Amino acid sequence: MNPRQAAIEAARCLYCFDAPCTQACPTRIDVPGFIKRIMTANVRGAARVILDANILGESCGRVCPTEVLCEGACVMHEKGEKPIEIGRLQRFAVDHVLARKIRLIEPGKPNGRRVACVGSGPASLACAAELARKGFRVTLFDREELAGGLNTYGIAAYKTRASDSMREVELVSSLGVEFRQNTEIGRDVTFVQLEKDFDAIFIGVGLGETWAMDIPGEDLEGVSGALEWIEQTKMLPFSQVVVGRRVACIGAGNTAIDVVTAARRLGAEAVYLIYRRSEHEMPAFRYEYELAKKDGVNFLWQTQPVRILGTAGVVKGIECIRTQLGAPDARGKRAPEIIRDSEFSIEVDMVVRAVGQKPVTEFLLGVRGIELRKNGTVVTNDRQQTGNRKYFAGGDCVNGGKEVVDAVAEGMAAARGISAWLGVANPKPA
Ligand SMILES: Cc1cc2nc3c(=O)[nH]c(=O)nc-3n(C[C@H](O)[C@H](O)[C@H](O)COP(=O)(O)OP(=O)(O)OC[C@H]3O[C@@H](n4cnc5c(N)ncnc54)[C@H](O)[C@@H]3O)c2cc1C
Ligand code: SF4
Repeated sequence: MNPRQAAIEAARCLYCFDAPCTQACPTRIDVPGFIKRIMTANVRGAARVILDANILGESCGRVCPTEVLCEGACVMHEKGEKPIEIGRLQRFAVDHVLARKIRLIEPGKPNGRRVACVGSGPASLACAAELARKGFRVTLFDREELAGGLNTYGIAAYKTRASDSMREVELVSSLGVEFRQNTEIGRDVTFVQLEKDFDAIFIGVGLGETWAMDIPGEDLEGVSGALEWIEQTKMLPFSQVVVGRRVACIGAGNTAIDVVTAARRLGAEAVYLIYRRSEHEMPAFRYEYELAKKDGVNFLWQTQPVRILGTAGVVKGIECIRTQLGAPDARGKRAPEIIRDSEFSIEVDMVVRAVGQKPVTEFLLGVRGIELRKNGTVVTNDRQQTGNRKYFAGGDCVNGGKEVVDAVAEGMAAARGISAWLGVANPKPA
């Protein structure tokens, strides 16, 4: 958007009282407030409203599923009109200040307290920034080379680039937050050490690698996890990304959609999305699905992979079987049942698993008082505090895998929780 387009779009806003868009945003950005500032050409003021509520306002403007959040709640729907393009306006305002390195957010007066954040993804970045603004000294530890978590390594390149994520890392760093990359907690630094050096510890470790499918042929060359493949698309020049001529992706969540659209855009001739339930049960957002349809992806519904076929250790196809949906269970979910003798094969040279991510929280089992759920997520109270009062947690490792904006909201809630628990009531600088 250029300034003129932004001003025209901003002028459509009705500036609702108790705005439903703000209520629908997990970080409760004052949406009418920032849009009004854009309309009056006060772009800095708009960015300040956004960053005050959400330090990752830039990436959220790019990656938020706005159709189901702020824009989905816009009253324009009731009038039969197009909702205000809140995500794009947000991006316009924050891009404006970050590109010019305009400093709007300042660190607070030092309060002498220290906090460690484990992980440097959106949850930890938001927690760290909010704490720094309250005067805490914060250190982030991350096992990866670059900070930013999935914002840097995982979210589809057509939505956001690693360089966009790094601009936000710089913003957080400008508040005096220290980053220690290539440092894995539990291996390179112990919890005993962290507890000695810090007054509170925030756990924002996200989720881990993609689950295996436990079918024969998964070890063939040409089979990979979704995350591992998407990381290549973010870190390498597009010309160096290895993509098959014919690609099958297993799963139907948003990650699967990212894989199939990226594979098509990188030149795959035929791309299949294989899902054992029907189109109606697919977990991906509708607009993401529409995007993949436009990209010419083939959808194989009610189809379950049986084995991956190979020659000389390399993928050459995938054998599948048809399914039908059984009666709804107690939760109303219809389990897929195999249709006997319905096997068929398709020729592919690349298979990508997009069947969810494993938890990475086992290393917390040694910390007294921290409780994990069956699925590995960390149990916290409404202040994001765990059963061990010194430890707080948020983001994917707590919510099981939602969106960037949810991780930001939980990171900020944890910062407020830590501040209250330590009895620090520093107001933010004006
Ligand atoms: C493929 C994909 C596409 C997505 N697309 C979108 C999208 O379009 N829009 C959207 O809003 N959300 C999207 N998401 C979800 C979003 O990326 C996550 O919700 C968000 O990144 C969660 O933030 P987090 O800080 O909890 O975890 P993460 O971003 O996963 O960060 C966790 C960090 O912790 C580090 N870590 C882990 N263990 C340790 C340890 N022991 N010691 C030190 N460091 C450790 C990791 O290296 C990582 O950097 C997507 C997710 C995936 C997988
Ligand atoms: S952070 Fe996301 S959900 Fe919230 S107003 Fe911005 S684009 Fe909408």
